[in-house]
Amino acid sequence: MTEELYRRLLAEAESDYEGFWARRAREEIDWIKPFTRTLDESNAPHYRWFDDGVLNVSVNCLDRHIAQRADKPAIVFEGEPGDVRVLTYRELLAEVGRFANALRAQGINTGDRVVIYMPMVPEAVIAMQACARIGAIHSVVFGGFSGESLKGRIIDAGATAVVTADGGHRGGRIIGLKAICDQVLDECPTVRTLFVLKRAGNAIAWRPGRDIWWHEAVADVSADCAPVAVGSEHPLYLLYTSGSTGRPKGIQHASAGYLLGTILTMRWVFDIREDDVFWCTADVGWVTGHSYVAYGPLACGATMVMYEGAPTIPDPGRFWDLCERHRVSVFYTAPTAIRALKKHGDDYPRGHDLSRLRLLGSVGEPINPEAWMWYYQVIGQGRCPIVDTWWQTETGVHMIAPIPGIVALKPGSCTRPLPGIVADVVDAEGTPVTAPDEGGFLVIKRPWPSMLRTIWGDPERYRETYWERFQNRYYVSGDGARRDADGYFWVMGRVDDVLKVSGHRLGTMEIESVLVAHPLIAEAAVVGRPDELTGEAICAFVVPRGPRPSGDERAALIAELRAWVGEKIGPIAKPADIRFADNLPKTRSGKIMRRLLRAVARGETVDEDVSTLENPDILRQLQGHDPQ
Ligand code: ATP
Ligand code: MG
Repeated sequence: MTEELYRRLLAEAESDYEGFWARRAREEIDWIKPFTRTLDESNAPHYRWFDDGVLNVSVNCLDRHIAQRADKPAIVFEGEPGDVRVLTYRELLAEVGRFANALRAQGINTGDRVVIYMPMVPEAVIAMQACARIGAIHSVVFGGFSGESLKGRIIDAGATAVVTADGGHRGGRIIGLKAICDQVLDECPTVRTLFVLKRAGNAIAWRPGRDIWWHEAVADVSADCAPVAVGSEHPLYLLYTSGSTGRPKGIQHASAGYLLGTILTMRWVFDIREDDVFWCTADVGWVTGHSYVAYGPLACGATMVMYEGAPTIPDPGRFWDLCERHRVSVFYTAPTAIRALKKHGDDYPRGHDLSRLRLLGSVGEPINPEAWMWYYQVIGQGRCPIVDTWWQTETGVHMIAPIPGIVALKPGSCTRPLPGIVADVVDAEGTPVTAPDEGGFLVIKRPWPSMLRTIWGDPERYRETYWERFQNRYYVSGDGARRDADGYFWVMGRVDDVLKVSGHRLGTMEIESVLVAHPLIAEAAVVGRPDELTGEAICAFVVPRGPRPSGDERAALIAELRAWVGEKIGPIAKPADIRFADNLPKTRSGKIMRRLLRAVARGETVDEDVSTLENPDILRQLQGHDPQ
C-alpha cells in the first residue's frame, strides 16, 4: 500500500463508515447478486452486513482465478516425512469440486454441519472449501485435540458428517486420528458419515455403513460442482475457541463479511503480491489457519506453503529449510514458536538461505522484545518488517496491526487499528482512557464486517460475553491494553491477567518480558494471588535455559531475578514468589494457561479436564513445588 492510499482509506472510514465498507465489498468480492444494504443494526448486537447480497465463498477463492492463474501453484505442501505435492489453482478447484460432490452424495446439504478433524494436509483445505461450495457449515477441530474435546464439539455443532484421516505425521510419530473418532462417534448420534483420508497408511478399524474412504468417495465423481448461492450472512463456519479462558465457545462466522476481511488484511498487512510465496505456519484448527491458510491466500490468488509436521523434525532448522527450498517471501508464525526455535540458537537459521524473505508476521500473544529482536535480526536479517497482528477468533481477521513500510514499528506493539476498525481503550465506566500508558479495556466501538455473529446455539452467552460489560455499546475483547503518547496500542494480556499490586496496575506480559530477557531464562509466566498486604502478589513461573536449579543456586537465582525485575520495571514489580519449572502448561495452540497457574499459585487443586493441554504432566511438577 502507498502512504497516500493509507491516508485516504483512514479518512474515508472516518467520514463515511458504511460507505467505506460498501465500496471495499464491491471492489473485492465477486457477487452473484450485489447487495443494496450495507449494515443492518436492527437486531444489535447481532449485526448483519451486506445482508441482501448473494455469493459463494469458494468461487471467490478458486473459480475466479482460473482465467488468469489456472496453472499457478495454489498450495505447495510438504509432509513431515519430506513428501512434496503442488496443487495449482486448476487442480485445487477440481479436487474441491469432487469432494463437494462426494459430500452431496452422502446427503450433506446447505446448512448442515461438517466436523473436520485432519492433519495439516491439502485435503483439510479441500474439505473446508468443499463445504463452502455447497453451503455446508464446517467446524474444524484441531488434530491434536483429544477424543473428549472432539466429541464435545461434534455434539455442540450437531454435525452429521466428520472428515478425518487414518493418521497424520507429527513429531516423528503417527497420530491415529481415525482411531480417536472411533472412540467417540458412538456417543455422537447425529453423525452418519465418516470420511477417511488415507494419509499415514497406519492400520485402522472400519465401520461399514458409516466409514467411507476419501479416495473411493471421489473416484467416479465429476470435478464440476455447481456452487450454491448463499446470502452474505449464511454461516461459513463455526470454530471453537482454544479455551484458555473457560469452556470453548462455538464462534459463528458469516460468509461475505468474513471473506472481505481476509482479502483486505492479506493486501494491507501482508502486502500480498502476485509473485509472493506466503507461509502461515498455523494449523487449520485455529482461526489463523482459517483466515490465512484456507481462505485469505486463496481469495487473493496467492501461492502458499503448507507443512504437516513439527518444527523440530528432523532438526530445529526445518522451518528455515522449508523457507529456503520453497522460496518463502512472507512468513507468519506465533511468538511461542519463535521462542522455541530461538532456544536452539542461531546456527540453524544461519545455515539456510533466507534471502527471499521480505516480511515477517506474529500472532497469538504479545511478542516480547527478546523474541522480536531475534526474529528481526536473525530470521529477517534486519531487512524484513515484523507485522505484529492483534486479533481474535471472534474478530475473524487482523484488527490492530501495522501497514508495513508505512506505520513505523515498535517492538512489542501491534501499533494502530486498521482502516475501518474503531478500537479504543476504556476504563471501568466505559470512558476512553486519554492519559498515555494507562491501562484499560480494549474495545471495538463500531461493528465490522468480519466480526463473529453469535455463539452457536447460545446467543445469550454471546451478548453476555462480548457486549453486556458496557451496555451493548462496544465489543469487549476481554484483553487489557494501553496506548502510548503516539497512540500506539500495547496489548497487556487478558483483562483477568492484569495485576493490581499496592494500587498499581501491572501487565503480566511486561514482567514476563523482563524475566525472559534475563540470560538464564527461557520462558516465564506471571500470575497474581491474593495478598493481605499488597492486594495482589506477583507469582512468577520460570523455565530456566539449563536444568532447574536447587539449593543455594536456586536461592541466588531467585534473588538475582527479583533484583533484575526491580531494576528494569521498578520495585513494585518484583515477584513475591518465583518457581522453577521444566515447562509451562500450554494449550495446543501454544498459549500459556494462566488460569491453571493462578490456581497453582493460590494452592488450589486443579480439578478440571486438562486433556487439551499440550503437556498435562507439567501440572504435577508445578504443584509439587513449595512456595518460597
Ligand atoms: P479463549 O477465548 O477460549 O480463551 P483464546 O483467546 O486463546 O481462547 P484466540 O481467539 O485464538 O483464542 O486468541 C485471541 C487472543 O490471543 C487475544 O484475545 C489476545 O489475548 C491474544 N493475542 C492474539 N494476537 C495477539 C497479539 N498480536 N498481541 C497480543 N495478544 C494477542
Ligand atoms: Mg479469547
